[in-house]
Amino acid sequence: MTREYIEKMYGKGKYQDLTIKFNNRFRECLGRFWWDGSVFQIEYNTLYVMSNHDNDAALKSVVVHEVAHIEYHEHDRDFERMCRKFGVDPHGHPDMAKVPKKQFVVRCESCGFSKERFYDTSPKRRLKRCPNCNSHEIRYRKIPGSWYYHVGDLYKRSS
Ligand SMILES: [Zn+2]
Ligand SMILES: [Zn+2]
Repeated sequence: MTREYIEKMYGKGKYQDLTIKFNNRFRECLGRFWWDGSVFQIEYNTLYVMSNHDNDAALKSVVVHEVAHIEYHEHDRDFERMCRKFGVDPHGHPDMAKVPKKQFVVRCESCGFSKERFYDTSPKRRLKRCPNCNSHEIRYRKIPGSWYYHVGDLYKRSS
């Protein structure tokens, strides 16, 4: 799909040396264009791509956004024009796209400090103390309607 849009947006034969990768560690970030002297690549969020594999509009949205960054590095007017020309909102996702969301709110009962987190409440990843007041009175609460799969779970599910 990336190659297809490179051709549509910039013409045949352009940017054939671009590397396309998937990144398991991305959370909120859905894609990234990266360019320096030695690296010329686009990375996609594995979880996002797998979760939206049957949703062309959701995939296209990220592909067009990242391909537009090849020539327009900033989120400026030229970049926006390029995205819109291909029917993509430069700053959003289609309504039906499954976007990874933070799944838990962690809250300190002592000082009221709270923060949203991606992680589950497994003991290894659990906050031991409040980063604000150092209290142990930490509670986790699931955010209704939120979801986040670990990429490994998703592989298991689909195989
Ligand atoms: Zn961007
Ligand atoms: Zn606290």
